[in-house]
Amino acid sequence: MKCDVCAVGERHEELIRYHVELDGKLVVVEHVPASVCSHCGEISIAPQVASSVQRTVWGTKPPVRAIETPVYEFGA
Ligand SMILES: [Zn+2]
Repeated sequence: MKCDVCAVGERHEELIRYHVELDGKLVVVEHVPASVCSHCGEISIAPQVASSVQRTVWGTKPPVRAIETPVYEFGA
């Protein structure tokens, strides 16, 4: 499938690491199926996948693991 953003690259299915912010906390969901452009790197997620991600992060199941995230200020 041709990329709808750059119209140059081809889209392919990939499992990505998806970041969402929840109450000021960064939450990571791993192995999310997404369509990624080989040229511009644009990532798009199907609506049903996005709602499944929402259900996962808002749900009551505990995360599989926790990571520490360094935070930088741009240009500092
Ligand atoms: Zn593209």
